[in-house]
Amino acid sequence: MDCVNQKKNSARCNCSYPGCSRHGICCECISYHRNHSELPACYFSAAEERTYNRSISYFVGSRRS
Ligand code: SF4
Repeated sequence: MDCVNQKKNSARCNCSYPGCSRHGICCECISYHRNHSELPACYFSAAEERTYNRSISYFVGSRRS
């Protein structure tokens, strides 16, 4: 089933990773990163997001500094 909100979600998605088939399909994005013990791009600042490090430890560590 296609995501009816993909276009709207993509317009406000901060992920800069090119060519991802999950872009704008938030349920698949969250599921993918959760299965890798990660968080999706929208948890991170623009600078953090560009590192492509989606790990939970990076997220927590970047809030402590
Ligand atoms: S956060 Fe990950 S799954 Fe989501 S659009 Fe970006 S690269 Fe794809």
